Amino acid sequence: PTGAPPLLVVDGLVKAFGGVRAVDGVSFVLRAGESAALIGPNGAGKSTLFSLIACQRRPDAGTVRMEGRLLTGRPAHALAGYGIGRTFQIARAFSSLGVFEAARTAARVGLPRAEADRRAGDLIARLGLTGLADATVATLSYGDIKRLELAIALAGRCRLLLMDEPAAGMAPAERRALMELVGALAAEEGVTVLFTEHDMDVVFGHARRVMVLHHGRLIADGPPERIRADSRVRSVYLGE
Ligand code: ADP
Ligand code: MG
Repeated sequence: PTGAPPLLVVDGLVKAFGGVRAVDGVSFVLRAGESAALIGPNGAGKSTLFSLIACQRRPDAGTVRMEGRLLTGRPAHALAGYGIGRTFQIARAFSSLGVFEAARTAARVGLPRAEADRRAGDLIARLGLTGLADATVATLSYGDIKRLELAIALAGRCRLLLMDEPAAGMAPAERRALMELVGALAAEEGVTVLFTEHDMDVVFGHARRVMVLHHGRLIADGPPERIRADSRVRSVYLGE
């Protein structure tokens, strides 16, 4: 999608905590349809960068624009109005609802009832949650909650989906399956996805663009084949 219009433009973001520059001058452009993985070792600054993009923190410097509109300085609850969804602890807000009801509630924002019901049912099926449609969200297993959060985020028909370690806490096989599903759903739904993951191997099968953060700086950005062969990336991950 090199010719696609810029969806998200991150320009010169900086965020320091005391003496630590957690995010140290990060700039990149994400185009519509171009999903990307942001990887990096623990402490690299991935979550801080996400919190700046998602308006949970204010940067010390730099800006974030979504479809040309300035996002920086807006409250986090304004994100949906910019077409941005995120999976962070969504299910908590829906804990007393049933699984289908939760997805339907999210889909109802901007959709008539019959269409919202169909969309909620489709997404739940795609995420393998049909058998749990009537289960109360609070009773779900950890992995099922992660899948439901994805369904809820997509139900709201965002154009950009932000996910900070969506597969955290899952076993490797389940992590890979979830990441594959994220890729497939993003393509089907035409949603651009930006997600973080600390395990480089988990992302290489599906992400077409990988950005590597180290000490708050982007040290590599490109297709997985190139990233995997990059000497700086190898030294960060493997100590080579
Ligand atoms: P990652 O998500 O890549 O593991 P983080 O963004 O969580 O990295 O952390 C980046 C750096 O910023 C680390 O050195 C971390 O200790 C520091 N940091 C993150 N959040 C805070 C905070 N609220 N206060 C102080 N330091 C923080
Ligand atoms: Mg993190």
